[in-house]
Amino acid sequence: MPILNYLESFNNKLNYAPTVCRIIRMNAYHQFDVLIIGSGAAGLSLALRLESRLNIAILSKTQLSEGSSLYAQGGIASVMDPGDTLNSHIQDTLNAGAGLCDPDTVRFCVEHGPEAIQWLIDKKVPFTFLDESHPEQGYHLTREGGHSHRRIIHAADATGRAIENTLEQQIKKCPNIHIFENHLAIDLITGAKLNYDQQRCYGAYVLNRDDNNIEVFDAPNVVLASGGASKVYLYTSNPDTSTGDGIAMAWRAGCRVANMEFNQFHPTCLYHPEAKSFLITEALRGEGAHLLLPDGSRFMHQFDSREELAPRDIVARAIDHEMKRLGVECLYLDISHKPADFIKQHFPTVYSQCLEFGYDLTSGPIPVVPAAHYTCGGVMTDLFGKTDLKGLYAAGETAFTGLHGANRMASNSLLECLVFAAAAARDINQNHQKRSDSPRLPEWDASRVTDSDEEVVVSHNWDELRRFMWDYVGIVRTNKRLQRAKSRVDLLLHEIDEYYGNFRITNDLIELRNLALVADLIIRSAQQRKESRGLHYTLDYPDLDNSTSPQNTILN
Ligand SMILES: Cc1cc2nc3c(=O)[nH]c(=O)nc-3n(C[C@H](O)[C@H](O)[C@H](O)COP(=O)(O)OP(=O)(O)OC[C@H]3O[C@@H](n4cnc5c(N)ncnc54)[C@H](O)[C@@H]3O)c2cc1C
Repeated sequence: MPILNYLESFNNKLNYAPTVCRIIRMNAYHQFDVLIIGSGAAGLSLALRLESRLNIAILSKTQLSEGSSLYAQGGIASVMDPGDTLNSHIQDTLNAGAGLCDPDTVRFCVEHGPEAIQWLIDKKVPFTFLDESHPEQGYHLTREGGHSHRRIIHAADATGRAIENTLEQQIKKCPNIHIFENHLAIDLITGAKLNYDQQRCYGAYVLNRDDNNIEVFDAPNVVLASGGASKVYLYTSNPDTSTGDGIAMAWRAGCRVANMEFNQFHPTCLYHPEAKSFLITEALRGEGAHLLLPDGSRFMHQFDSREELAPRDIVARAIDHEMKRLGVECLYLDISHKPADFIKQHFPTVYSQCLEFGYDLTSGPIPVVPAAHYTCGGVMTDLFGKTDLKGLYAAGETAFTGLHGANRMASNSLLECLVFAAAAARDINQNHQKRSDSPRLPEWDASRVTDSDEEVVVSHNWDELRRFMWDYVGIVRTNKRLQRAKSRVDLLLHEIDEYYGNFRITNDLIELRNLALVADLIIRSAQQRKESRGLHYTLDYPDLDNSTSPQNTILN
């Protein structure tokens, strides 16, 4: 055997070899006043809103800044322009939500928007000015689908990065906030699981990915800020962190989840084998980009009078429809009719990333496809981020506040992260009481754990799950496809349970278990909805059901 091949096969063996000598030790017991699971816009802003008397832990399952927030391009929606009104933002949100937004939540969120933006400005997030040499003229506001005014404040086309970097710097100055990177929360510790009388959340078991220890985080206030679940689909704009862990943990802890059938597909991700998840911001269409068929003709007018500025579900379905009709793998987006300087100034990140893949935004169209982008459903909360379980809060994409209804309006999600993180922080600040001497929580039961050489099962199941979710529970659904998906997910859940109960748990297994559970919740919710509404579109019930008033899909 040539030496190189031999080395490769040896390395492969090493990768798959059972880690028999790895012993799970449980030597870390942490006590905090507040445990925040997730370090995106929701988690970081919540931590900074808490009083400095509180001892806070923030977990991130990889690096601190990694998560969807980091990749947000377009910006944050809020009423900043004197010509705009709160009522107009409220009405646009209600329209996008297709009858399922909670009006009180929408009003609450929109009314708290300007304060949330001012808070970010005070923290020194470098938002883009109308004229960089005349900041006194105010900020540049862009427009996106569904908004009837320019109301999206942004930091060029890398708003999320600007927010994450700024908040991270601030966090690192706070001695009461402790950061735990590479710490993956596995499950919540609840009264029910411990057979305690008091039904509440006491903390979480957490895998330290650096040394594979399972640690106990004991905290009377736990916040799920762990992002969405779009990794349940084969093609997604989201980073690898979006595996629905918070939703799955809350569900296992007995919380209700709602509207899981409404997953938003972003119409335009760059179509390129190496451009994994690279999203082309909707602001391009806001600034006049056209969607084109392969022959260069426009088509959006056939689907909606708002053309390229129709809400995302309509645009994504139109693209999906045209791709299937023509049997093509992508369509095109063109902004090259705008001046090159304008494009480079407004979209520096998209411009340079596209160039890296060989496409020049200033000189011609770029290939695009839709991809899973945003989880509208999630863990049910009230206006303070409180879930069904005492001591457990949820904020950001993990949560279901009632803001988005059947469809999220562009740039309302970062707003939701900030507003509800602030509300949850207010509640914790007001209600936190120093703990009396509570008993030490039990450590993770590792008695059943043995090592396995079957990692291949886990990686196979990951692929299978994400593929059937894409094929059967994607942009267009049918009863038959949902039933097929349900049979497969039932089988997977059974296999995963068996595997989970018998072998050493790993990062991939924990995420797979969560993704499979979230997939099940999505399928069951989709099966319950006997109509097409917002992001849920089924060929078996292609119309709205107006016979009764629209209902959320609540699973408990
Ligand atoms: C490419 C892209 C562009 C977008 N553009 C916009 C935009 O312009 N405007 C807008 O409003 N919205 C936008 N969105 C949506 C928005 O970015 C997200 O909804 C929002 O950032 C979610 O923030 P979050 O704090 O809830 O979660 P995230 O930012 O996803 O953070 C989740 C955090 O949880 C951690 N985590 C997850 N599971 C665990 C676990 N088990 N244990 C420990 N830690 C865990 C992760 O490590 C991460 O730190 C965009 C999304 C994407 C993907």
